[in-house]
Amino acid sequence: MSQANQIEPIESDQENVFEVVQKQCGICAALLNLPDDIHEIIRNPMREIQVSIPVRMDNGKLKVFKGFRVQYNDALGPTKGGIRFHPEETIDTIRALAAWMTWKCSLLELPLGGAKGGIICNPKEMSAGELERLSRGYVDKIWSFIGPDKDIPAPDVYTNPQIMAWMMDQYSKLAGKNQFGVMTGKPLDIGGSIGRNTATARGALYVIVEAAKTAGLNLKEASLAIQGYGNAGSNLAYLANNIYGCKIVAITDKGGGIYNKNGLDPKAVYKHKAETGSVAGFPGAEPLINGNLFSLNVDILCPSALENVITKKNAPDVKAQIVAELANGPTTPEADDILFNMGIQVLPDFLCNAGGVTVSYFEMVQNFSMLYWDEAEVFERLKKKMSSSYHEVYDTSEKRHVNMRQAAYMVAVKRIADAMVLRGWI
Ligand code: GLU
Repeated sequence: MSQANQIEPIESDQENVFEVVQKQCGICAALLNLPDDIHEIIRNPMREIQVSIPVRMDNGKLKVFKGFRVQYNDALGPTKGGIRFHPEETIDTIRALAAWMTWKCSLLELPLGGAKGGIICNPKEMSAGELERLSRGYVDKIWSFIGPDKDIPAPDVYTNPQIMAWMMDQYSKLAGKNQFGVMTGKPLDIGGSIGRNTATARGALYVIVEAAKTAGLNLKEASLAIQGYGNAGSNLAYLANNIYGCKIVAITDKGGGIYNKNGLDPKAVYKHKAETGSVAGFPGAEPLINGNLFSLNVDILCPSALENVITKKNAPDVKAQIVAELANGPTTPEADDILFNMGIQVLPDFLCNAGGVTVSYFEMVQNFSMLYWDEAEVFERLKKKMSSSYHEVYDTSEKRHVNMRQAAYMVAVKRIADAMVLRGWI
């Protein structure tokens, strides 16, 4: 396997992400003055499913893969969240991501709880046939716990619409009827929604637009540095440049980084990555050491890969006015405090990257009603949700003198706590 083909490691600073979530819950409980009973419930996952999935590999041998699904909290509705395929997946990462999904759906006022799934595997070393058998095998093991009104998975790191199609098909076979609404992020021809594939980036951009107004930043003159050039990072680069005229000056991925102060062409970089496996070596750009991306003199910094990349070590070097978290959990709590004290506007993950699940929710609505929307309707509804959530978080942060993440927690957790009280759980 070539260097550029390697999968990004899950944790770069080795902080246990679920402990980070529990720390964040503790801060939020104190700020909201939550009763201990509520705090106790929200700091623990509601249900965890662990399965072994036997898969016949192409060489004839049988291999058993470990899979997880964590359903974190369903006070607001059926649980929702992606499935990751990653060789370094752990139950703690999935727990943390399931919690963040719970806050994300609540913050965006979606009638949904939060969940996350994962399988320990290296999809880059597997054939399409092996991936299909693994995807169907996972559904065989978890199908009684999921469903359009129970728990609805979606794509995430290293999973895609094709994998959702196989999983939806397997679930439908087991259920004995077509159940398009059991998975979102499906291909358009079998119940997918227009705009879902680029929704995470588009949603982030709508939040960035509002944050730039707050910061008095003209996006036409703004420079962006992007860490990670997968679905979120590459679409953000393209849309920010194409719609708002932002200059993309730096991009890194696992294979290396590139810099051009006059701006990079996002489509050409994408093509280069598709051909070579990495953005590194893109003609006309200077090489950039990955870690140096965070200290670049840019207006907007966009971590768009994995967890724990902005830490207490590199946070003091950040020069951007806005940090837009397209990844889940890229900033540690210590780094959060440092950035806040430096006056940097951090757009927290479960606000900034909520466009994906928001259009997933639109996809569910379209599946249920069997009436499909056009692009304008999807984008308009997405814009409205992302912008109003930004303002709700920003206003809370101003009013309560807390950082944007704490403000987002306060808004999201308050709704979940109220729902739990109304349902008589406390
Ligand atoms: N995996 C995406 C996320 O982390 C989307 C989840 C979904 O669409 O359910 O938000």
